[in-house]
Amino acid sequence: MSGKVAVFYDPIYLGHDTGMHPESPGRLRHAVSHLKSSSINERLLWMPPRQAEDSEILLAHLPQHLETVRVLSARGGGRIDLDTSVYPDSYQVAAWAVGGAIAAAEWAWQRGPGSFAVALVRPPGHHASSGSAGGFCLFNNVAVGARYLQRQGAERVLIVDWDLHHGNGTQEIFYSDPSVLYFSIHQHPAYPGTGSPEEIGRGPGRGYTVNFPVPPGTGDDDLAWIMSSVLMRLAAAFRPHAIAVSCGFDGYFADPLGDLRLTVEGFGRLAAGIRDLAFQQQAPVFAVLEGGYHRDGIARGLERVLAVWSGSPAELAPPTEPGAWVSRVMAMIRQHLADRWEVLADRGQLDI
Ligand SMILES: [Zn+2]
Repeated sequence: MSGKVAVFYDPIYLGHDTGMHPESPGRLRHAVSHLKSSSINERLLWMPPRQAEDSEILLAHLPQHLETVRVLSARGGGRIDLDTSVYPDSYQVAAWAVGGAIAAAEWAWQRGPGSFAVALVRPPGHHASSGSAGGFCLFNNVAVGARYLQRQGAERVLIVDWDLHHGNGTQEIFYSDPSVLYFSIHQHPAYPGTGSPEEIGRGPGRGYTVNFPVPPGTGDDDLAWIMSSVLMRLAAAFRPHAIAVSCGFDGYFADPLGDLRLTVEGFGRLAAGIRDLAFQQQAPVFAVLEGGYHRDGIARGLERVLAVWSGSPAELAPPTEPGAWVSRVMAMIRQHLADRWEVLADRGQLDI
């Protein structure tokens, strides 16, 4: 389970020029220059992404949403909501961000189990729903990547979203779909306000959305416990053919937009959990950059994640007991999901 990690990046991602907005070109520029000047660089395979076709964007979006972004962009830009704007180059850059997710997904899928690819793209995607942009996101990169892989033969895809915010767009896109299991750990309360444990999917998708909200101040140990006690169990029962990661770094303790307390090593532990899952399920992994607004938090968090996925030693190292809030949320999750996922009813530690 070691080898080079493919990193899909192009300077075109700096072209969605948001000015003084926290989701700025500078956050990605800094992360890329940090990776290229650090010793991790020799374990990275820098790969060119591509622009997604409209037909690919439509794998996760309604035609009128694509048209809204395209027309607004062609007219020179405009505001979509309080947080989200379109600039003259945004349609093209967002189509390249989707293409980055597709390229990373395809690379990992073609190389098979144990391969890891990361799309370092912007704008981010997980708040974009099938019909609308929002929360700095125009198109849902990870959702299109997952749908694309399903067309390549990955019947079941697990999406793990460790961005500090709930990925309401990703949840909406797959809410009725039992072929994609969406698992999110996010701060509560925080934007966008969704992601309660009661939101578990609908119709045939009931049980395939799993939300684990955590309070401000939550850190490395609790996230490792959640990954070990909830995600590992679900994945063992779901048996994904591919694993996607909505990889946000706004959980970093110094992030200006969030109040979680993850350290750089905490991201390494989460990456170790994903690596263990990939090994256990014999599934390839593709990750897509989401949020993260502290420049060193993204740069150093990414460096650590990439180190673990390219073979550096790291352990998930969950504590035996979670904090009091996490225990309470776990009880709610059992209440809502234990009838669908027998593995969640068991209170013992999962030995993987
Ligand atoms: Zn976020």
